[in-house]
Amino acid sequence: MEVTIGVPPPEAYLDHAASTPARPEVVEAMLPWLAEHWGNPTGAHARGRAARRAVDEAREPVAELLGCSGGEIVFTSGGTEADDLAVNGVLDAVGGMALCSAIEHHAVLDPVVHRGGAIVPVDRRGVLDCAALADMLDAAGAAAATGDGPDVTVVSVMVANNEVGTIQPLTHIAEVVARHAPAAVMHTDAVQAAAWCDVAALAAGVPLVSLSGHKIGGPKGIGALAIRPGVALAPRLRGGGQERGRRSGTHNVAGIVGLGVAAQLVLEHRTQLAATVGAMRDRLEAALVAIEGVSVTVAAGGSAPPERLPTISHLCVSGVDSEALLFLLDDAGVAASAASSCASGATESSHVLAAMGVPAADARGSLRLSLGWTTDDTTIDRVIEVMPAAVARLRLFDVSSSERS
Ligand code: PLP
Repeated sequence: MEVTIGVPPPEAYLDHAASTPARPEVVEAMLPWLAEHWGNPTGAHARGRAARRAVDEAREPVAELLGCSGGEIVFTSGGTEADDLAVNGVLDAVGGMALCSAIEHHAVLDPVVHRGGAIVPVDRRGVLDCAALADMLDAAGAAAATGDGPDVTVVSVMVANNEVGTIQPLTHIAEVVARHAPAAVMHTDAVQAAAWCDVAALAAGVPLVSLSGHKIGGPKGIGALAIRPGVALAPRLRGGGQERGRRSGTHNVAGIVGLGVAAQLVLEHRTQLAATVGAMRDRLEAALVAIEGVSVTVAAGGSAPPERLPTISHLCVSGVDSEALLFLLDDAGVAASAASSCASGATESSHVLAAMGVPAADARGSLRLSLGWTTDDTTIDRVIEVMPAAVARLRLFDVSSSERS
C-alpha cells in the first residue's frame, strides 16, 4: 500500500480542530525512530539509552509550550488520556468530587459525570459563569464541613473550546477556585489552544495541563499531561513504572519525538501563523455572514464575540440542516464539520450549543469551519464561492423555513 506523508490535503480542508496534518518535519523526525532506532527506552544497552535520550529531549519543547519543566511532563496516548489522568488521577488520590464547565470536551465531561461530579454553567458566549462556580464551591465546602457531601478536589476548565473557540478567563477562574476551594486542584484542557495561544501564560497558575499531538501538527496517538510539583495524583495505568510511575507502558518513542518537534515548531511560528490564519478566518467570516440568515454563534444578539481562537468560525445557518449542508459542502470539496461528531462519524447534537442556550432551531444549522497551518487563500475562496449556492439550494427544500416565513 502506498501512503503519501507530510502532504497537505488537496481539498478545501476546514476541519483542523478535528485533526490537523502532521508537519513534514515531524514525520521526517519520527521515521528513524520507527525504522532504525526501535529500542525500548527502559533498556540498559546503547539502543535503549538512545531511545531514552530522544524521549527526554522531546520533553523540553513540550514543557516550554505548557509552561513547566521537562520533569513535570507525563507522556500519554493523547488528549483523552491526559484529561482522564487529570480528573480521575486526582479523585483516585484524594477522593472528593470534580467540577467542570458545561462546554468541556467529552474527554473531561464524561469522567466528571461518571464520578458523580457537577457541571458549571456558561453564558451565551461560552464563557464560564464565575459567580455560579463560586457558589458551587461554597456549597460543596459547606456540605463537606458538616459531613453532608464531598468537597470539590478538582476543577477542570478548558483553555479554549473545540466547537466555538471561546477562550476562558483562566487566571480569574483560578483565583475564584483558590479563594473558594483552596485545597482543590485546577486542570485545564489545552488541546485546542496549544497551537494558537500562549498556553504557558494563560495557564500559568494551573497545575494540570493537557495536550494532544494531532491538534498541533504532531502525530495522532500521543499527548501529554503537565503535572506541577505537589499535586497528588494516582496513576491510571500501573505496570512497568514508566513516567516516574505516573503512566506505565512502553513509550511511543516515535510519537514522542514527533510531539517534541511539533511543539518546537509551534513555539517558533505560533505568533506569526496565528495572525495570518486569524486574518483568513475574519475574511471568511465576513463573507459568510453577508449571506442572509448566517450568524457567528458566539456573537449573540449583535454582541462582540468573546476572546476566541483565531482558527474557528462557528456559524448558525438558518433554514438548513447541518448534515445536509455538510454533505453539499463535501461534494464541492469543502471538508467542514458540525462540531461534535461521535465515533461512528454521525453528527450528534451539541452539548456545547445547548449549554450556551443556542436555540434548537439555530443549532440545527450549525457549521464549524476550522483553519490550520495548511489553510491558504485558495481554501477560503473556495468556501466563499460554494456556500451561497449550497445554502440557497437547501433552503429551497427546507420545510421548517418555509413554514416560518
Ligand atoms: N480535548 C479537546 C478540547 C479536544 O478537542 C479533543 C479532540 O478533539 C480531545 C480533548 C481529545 O484528544 P485526543 O483526540 O488526542 O484524544
